[in-house]
Amino acid sequence: MKTNILKVFIFLFISVISVNLYSQKPKEKSMFEKYNLKQVSSEKVGREKRDRETNVIRAKYNEYYVNRKYSSPDSIAISYLKDKHSEFDLSENITEVRVAKTSKSLGGKYIYFEQNLFDVPVYSSNCIVALNNGDTVTYVLNNLRNIKKYNLQKTKPRISSNEAFYLTLSYFGINDKVVRNPKSKLVYFESEDNGLELAWKINIIAMEPLGDWLVIVNAENERIIHVEDIALYHNGSGMIYNPNPITTAQTTYGGNYVDNNDANNTALQNERIQVTLRDITLDNGFYKLEGPYCILDDLETPSDNFPELTNQNGFNYARNQQEFEAVMVYYHIDLASRRIESLGYNIPELRTFSADPHGLNGDDNSHYMPSQNYVAFGEGGVDDAEDADIIWHEYGHAIQQNIGIGNMSYSGETKSVQEGSSDYWAVSYSRSVSSYNWGFFANWDGHNPFWDGRRADLNWVYPTDYVSGHNGGQIWSSALMDIWGDLGRDITDRLFLETHFLWGQSPSMEDAAEAFIQADIQLYGGYHLCSIIQHFRAHGLTNRELTVSVSNRTITADETISGCDVNVSNVTIQNNSKVKIDAGDNVNINGTFEVKVGSELEIK
Ligand SMILES: [Zn+2]
Repeated sequence: MKTNILKVFIFLFISVISVNLYSQKPKEKSMFEKYNLKQVSSEKVGREKRDRETNVIRAKYNEYYVNRKYSSPDSIAISYLKDKHSEFDLSENITEVRVAKTSKSLGGKYIYFEQNLFDVPVYSSNCIVALNNGDTVTYVLNNLRNIKKYNLQKTKPRISSNEAFYLTLSYFGINDKVVRNPKSKLVYFESEDNGLELAWKINIIAMEPLGDWLVIVNAENERIIHVEDIALYHNGSGMIYNPNPITTAQTTYGGNYVDNNDANNTALQNERIQVTLRDITLDNGFYKLEGPYCILDDLETPSDNFPELTNQNGFNYARNQQEFEAVMVYYHIDLASRRIESLGYNIPELRTFSADPHGLNGDDNSHYMPSQNYVAFGEGGVDDAEDADIIWHEYGHAIQQNIGIGNMSYSGETKSVQEGSSDYWAVSYSRSVSSYNWGFFANWDGHNPFWDGRRADLNWVYPTDYVSGHNGGQIWSSALMDIWGDLGRDITDRLFLETHFLWGQSPSMEDAAEAFIQADIQLYGGYHLCSIIQHFRAHGLTNRELTVSVSNRTITADETISGCDVNVSNVTIQNNSKVKIDAGDNVNINGTFEVKVGSELEIK
């Protein structure tokens, strides 16, 4: 039982912590968006549209204009606008517009004019004159802006495009290393709040905040006028195993549920489920498995042909097709990466992460390549990428190398810590999908004649049961899954991620446990220590005491007393000492407990 006073302390501490967690979350994209382009309003009058403010023609849907003096479509369109200049509120020689583009379709020819002021284009200001195949002007759209009213004088930009670029970066709070393809152009921009302004139009692609950003920066007073994400996002869909056919069929390896040289059968076909493939890329009319979190890349042999489809919902393959693993890898890496962000961690190196669904010369193994930061999956036995556990496991290695100090050594106990951590990351996910045989790591790729697989539900104790390498990591993954059973997935995953920052390059098994304890102290004020310490003790990973007794003592110097339960009896604190009791569960006070004037006692 906890005393009431203790609960109040803990509650206060946790509310402070949760504020910190929120601040680690990415800012909402909408926080950056600022739409400030002046809107042009028009109304339809018969077969025309007119500007509500100026009565200028905005569209002509049924025009009929022939000019046989000219034969080129451009010249005909130009003569049309000159003849009708007053209807469009243009000067007689239409010097404020110029032909920006001409295109031709089966149905006709289209001349696109753009508006200019002092040879600088006016942003979002254009006029389209359409000719039919008989060179008659039949249709006109006029989106030119009414800028005469501003009576602007010609000026030069006071800041350079480069300065505008850096103003943009500081607006987003990012540096130039995390943006791709910056572009800039001088424009006149008509803003809703301030009229026509000479400005730099900056385009950058950023990963955080994710978007294809258009930013308009005033070229004189440096004001950020307008910010808009112009990216077009597409979701697709496809068929995958989640996490694997053995788990969803609630069976074990055998019968119809065997690899059989990657052959398909009805039973295995039926275990596929349909999922959304988020933010895939549309490139030249083809949907590709390329998104903000995962990019399929043919980095190793055997070579791959990745699906490129005209139908974004057509990623539906059977397990015997190579494309099936490509969809599996895209889906699960995208999900694992978004999982990290949803827990409040932003790791730029884990975005646009490369993965090769078929590598290692087809071997029965998979790997993460630290120097190039990618993962690849083998095909021996069951194709590795047919089992979500393997994908999440390899991605777990990417987490290890990219969170915290990185460059971790891959030897001794550190290797077991890494392998056990990757197993935990996989099993934590698959247990959240299904509790069926959740303790098995790699239910489909392993636990079969090809490979024994591993477990994350063993009662092995360190150091007695410890073996080096992958298998020793089962002590670590099993301890973490025991904690998961008490605290649930979200808290345990968050503590797990935080732990990586506290490892250094070569943690032992016990170092890893200490780091996990420290993570709970930092994130939750030690609120879960009783459960954590209890399970680590059961696996021999810590010798921290669950119960600490302080009795018949006079404390005369600063001291922190920490434990799961703290028993205090006949204690006096004096000499201006500061004493902190850091108890995970209970503080039990029996007999006298005195704090002399000048000394302090803090109970957490
Ligand atoms: Zn591994």
